[in-house]
Amino acid sequence: MNNPNERTSSENGIYLSIYSSPSTNAQAAAKELAELRESVSLFTSAKSVKQCGKKLTVVKTTGGKREPKEITYYCKNKHVCPVCMSYAYSQLGKKLTTLLDKWLASRGSVYTQTFTLPNRPKSLAFKYKDIVSTWGYLVGTKAFQQLKQDFGLSQYFRVTEDVLDGKNSFPHFHLTWFFGSHLSSQLMADFCQQVADLWVLTANRQGIRGTQSIHQWSGPVRFGTQSYARYLTKHGYLELSFTPKDWLQKPGRHKPLDFLRVFVKTGDSSMYDTWVDYERATSGKQRFRASSQFDWLPEPKKVS
Ligand SMILES: [Zn+2]
Repeated sequence: MNNPNERTSSENGIYLSIYSSPSTNAQAAAKELAELRESVSLFTSAKSVKQCGKKLTVVKTTGGKREPKEITYYCKNKHVCPVCMSYAYSQLGKKLTTLLDKWLASRGSVYTQTFTLPNRPKSLAFKYKDIVSTWGYLVGTKAFQQLKQDFGLSQYFRVTEDVLDGKNSFPHFHLTWFFGSHLSSQLMADFCQQVADLWVLTANRQGIRGTQSIHQWSGPVRFGTQSYARYLTKHGYLELSFTPKDWLQKPGRHKPLDFLRVFVKTGDSSMYDTWVDYERATSGKQRFRASSQFDWLPEPKKVS
C-alpha cells in the first residue's frame, strides 16, 4: 500500500512527464486540472477556491507612475483546489529532493515511516482529529524526546495523505526522519519500531484500540531521492491513464483528486458525498508539517 517501490509504470510515467520540461502529458494534466478547478468552484463551500484562477487588475506604482497590471489570483488551498494542490506538491517535491540529496551527502541518514490508525465507523473529520491528536500526544511524551536524543534525530517532516473510499476513507502520515549522523538501517529500524510502539500506546491511551502499526511501511532513504520525494507528493499528481471507466470497473481506494474526477465525469452522487466529506474534514488542516527549527540546508548567502 505504502511502498514506493510498488508504484505502477503508469504512475512513473506521469511523475516523469510532470517533472521534466513541458511535455504533451504535462500540458494535458494542466488542462485537466484547470477544468477540475472550474468544476469544483461550482459546488465548493470554500470561497477562496471559487475565486481561484480569476484575473484581477491591480494598480502598481513604478517610479511614481501608477499603472494597472493584470494578475491571476491563486487560492493556495492544498486540499481542495486541484491546481493549487498540484502546484504545492510539485514545489514541495523539488524542495525535498534538494534537501535529501544535501542531507545524505553532508549530514547523516534518512528513514521513512508511515502511521495509520485502524479503520473505525467514524466520519473522516473524526479520523483526522484522532490521528492528529495521537501524533500531538506522541511527540509530547518524554519517551519520544528520549528516543530523539538516543538516536540523534535532528528533525522530521510529516506529510498527510488521504485515501478515500467512502466509509473506509482514512488519513495517514508519512514521516521522514533525518538523523544527525550516518546510522545503520538496523539502528534506524529499531528507532522506528520504538516510535511505532509509542504510537500504539498513545493511541490506546486515547481509546483508539487495535492500532495497525505493525503493518506500516518503513525503510531507509539512501538513493532515488527524487522518486521518494515524488512518492511523498503523489497526492497532487494526476495519473492521466486513470479514467472514470477504470474506476467503475475496479472501484477501490483512491486519491481525493481521483474521486473528484469520477464525480465530475459521471455525476455519481456517492462520489460527491465522499468529496464533500473530505473537503469538510481537511478544512483548516495542515498538510505538510516540519519539526521546529527545521533546517532546509539553504545555500550560504554570497558575500560580495
Ligand atoms: Zn487554487
